Amino acid sequence: MNFTDIKGHELTIRALQNAVREDRIFHCYLFTGEESIGKRLVALAFAKTLLCKSEGIEPCNRCNSCLKFDSWNHPDLVFIEPENRLIKKEVIDKLIKSMSILPLESKRKIVIIDQCDKMEVETQNALLKTLEEPPSYVNIILITSNVNNLIPTILSRSQLVKFHPVESKHIIELIVSKYGKTREEADFIAHFTKGSVGKSITLCQHPEFFERRDNTISLVHDIIRGDRINVLNSIDFFVQNKDYMDEIIDIMIYWFRDLMLYKEIGNSILILNKDKIQLLSSETFLDMDRINDIIDNIMKTKKLIDNNVNFQLAIETMLLNMQEV
Ligand SMILES: [Zn+2]
Repeated sequence: MNFTDIKGHELTIRALQNAVREDRIFHCYLFTGEESIGKRLVALAFAKTLLCKSEGIEPCNRCNSCLKFDSWNHPDLVFIEPENRLIKKEVIDKLIKSMSILPLESKRKIVIIDQCDKMEVETQNALLKTLEEPPSYVNIILITSNVNNLIPTILSRSQLVKFHPVESKHIIELIVSKYGKTREEADFIAHFTKGSVGKSITLCQHPEFFERRDNTISLVHDIIRGDRINVLNSIDFFVQNKDYMDEIIDIMIYWFRDLMLYKEIGNSILILNKDKIQLLSSETFLDMDRINDIIDNIMKTKKLIDNNVNFQLAIETMLLNMQEV
């Protein structure tokens, strides 16, 4: 993993590389930002750079340190992540003890704690003592998408590095070149995941997602065309895909949002379901008020499902409303 392999985050990477160049490395960094947008990749590239024997602003990929890093065998890299959604206190206690041992291979010892918010307060407090007075050769990179779950003193002891969603053009480029999707499909994915590179890649690796999307859209299409039998038949689809309900709700909301846009301004770059523009254009018989009602109704159903009401009944009501409003 090198900085050059990472899509987006140019400013953050440049700032980290400048710090390496000027030898102004903080003892503790806190990488924050939404899930799966590349925080961990940047942390790994940064750690590899700091450990590399060439001491440049990018790993050399040839030295012993880089080779060991790539095979997850570097004695001076400690990578911690939750097990069963928890980073146990024993793990942090062990880490603290191991920090007193000098680095073996490189000049530094790097500790990365991914999803550091999965530490209980007691564990965070134990780590805090080390953050206050770390050995000079230790650098710690904490990663979280839930900064609110950290005790404030962890925040105040760390150099905050905020990650923003990656610009969609970078994600589209990646999906088209590496995952063989069309530009239109890639455009949908990049927006659907709100700029998350990790989530975009995951979706590309799961063809079931595209099947679910196709099924959802064609089902909605039949329903708004008034086929009552379809309502009852469709419920099975929702029951079978209950675990993906958040995703399906988003697909429906994006669909109707696109339909409003299409009616307002025609085919434009703002439309997300560009790969299905023909189908979309065949639904313009719905008037704006009705589309608005449908969106409202989907949002209400989402809330009901989140509150654990009778799932089947909630879906049935939503579909019948979709047909009748
Ligand atoms: Zn190297």
